[in-house]
Amino acid sequence: MREFSFFMPTKLVFGQDVVKKAGAGLALGKKALIVTGRSSARLSGALDDVLEALSGEYVLFDRVENNPTGENCQEGAELARRENCDYIIAIGGGSPLDAAKVMAVLAVNEKSPLELYAQGWEKKPLPIVAIPTTAGTGSEVTPYAVLTIHEEETKRGLGGPDLFPAVAYLDPRYTASLPLQVTIDTAVDALSHLVEGYLSNRASSASDLAALQGIAVWGGVIPALRSGDISLQVREDLLLASMLGGITIAQTGTTFVHALGYPLTYFHDYPHGRANGIFMASYLEFTHAHAPERVEMVLELLDLPSLNAFRELMNELFADYVGKLHVPEERIRAYAEKAAQTKNVSYSRGTPSVEELTEILKENIL
Ligand code: NAP
Ligand code: FE
Repeated sequence: MREFSFFMPTKLVFGQDVVKKAGAGLALGKKALIVTGRSSARLSGALDDVLEALSGEYVLFDRVENNPTGENCQEGAELARRENCDYIIAIGGGSPLDAAKVMAVLAVNEKSPLELYAQGWEKKPLPIVAIPTTAGTGSEVTPYAVLTIHEEETKRGLGGPDLFPAVAYLDPRYTASLPLQVTIDTAVDALSHLVEGYLSNRASSASDLAALQGIAVWGGVIPALRSGDISLQVREDLLLASMLGGITIAQTGTTFVHALGYPLTYFHDYPHGRANGIFMASYLEFTHAHAPERVEMVLELLDLPSLNAFRELMNELFADYVGKLHVPEERIRAYAEKAAQTKNVSYSRGTPSVEELTEILKENIL
């Protein structure tokens, strides 16, 4: 018997100039904390559009780091408290969007970021308007925020149903300023959400609805990713695929690809999507033994004839990075042991053991 639920409360507004069209309707309160990274909100044109549309008060926090830490979020939360902000407008890639979610919680709950993992929070976070400028994380439609935790030497997701943004404005034009390699890195993050969600042992008929459409849309942009010729139409498809990936993992969570990717980001500075991409082919090969029809459906929708063709695609997109990391064997074992403790691994079909994870790591980064 099927048994599932589906919850995605974020209002979506997708299309060209949606921020301008929203006008004063962009505001969810009296005073906004606008949260961005150092330069992308300006570079993408999103910040200008927001400032033009917004008629109410605001204060700007433009210091979100890539792969943000709790301390970085605490800084923004303090500003929100000091300035009496009653909502947040987050503009950027997954880093500013995730940081904004944690700031929204910390602004109204007197806790340290680490306490949020252990104890949760009581007071409802500030409402968030999310405006993505990358097409990858889907954070605008997920209830997750991923933080770098130096105490644990890794990255870890924080989740809660009230972390879904209230509204998301998705304008593909904001992603046009992304350099090609960042476009590829983030696109592969979106693919990993779609595929991991579809292959998760938590997948349901409702999450499949988003995953299957998203994988098919992603399949359509493969020639453009290969050639590097990224038109606005391709940007639109990537942003849609990324949003559908977010809707998928909001229900299913991610699987062991993400758990293996975190040490590559933490210790080797690999951007998140690239860190996932390095393991995707091995993941499909492993999962094929446990859910062959589902893996074959992924290949069919991507219009790739075989698992080998998938590996070739990843090798081509990450030509400068595949086979370049030479991580010592004892570190590989440590990465596998840490990954094995995550929920992501328990959501993976075939629930890989430490030995199996070690093999997959060795195959790709020894
Ligand atoms: P990001 O870390 O937000 O941004 C990467 C780089 O791209 C930054 O240097 C950023 O500049 C720049 N950038 C962003 N938009 C740009 C644009 N339109 N034009 C030019 N440059 C631009 O990258 P991301 O891959 O989107 O997010 C990664 C984070 O999200 C990781 O921490 C990951 O763990 C997390 N994540 C979260 C979820 C979730 O469900 N919440 C899911 C997957 C991943 P600035 O520094 O100036 O902003
Ligand atoms: Fe991700």
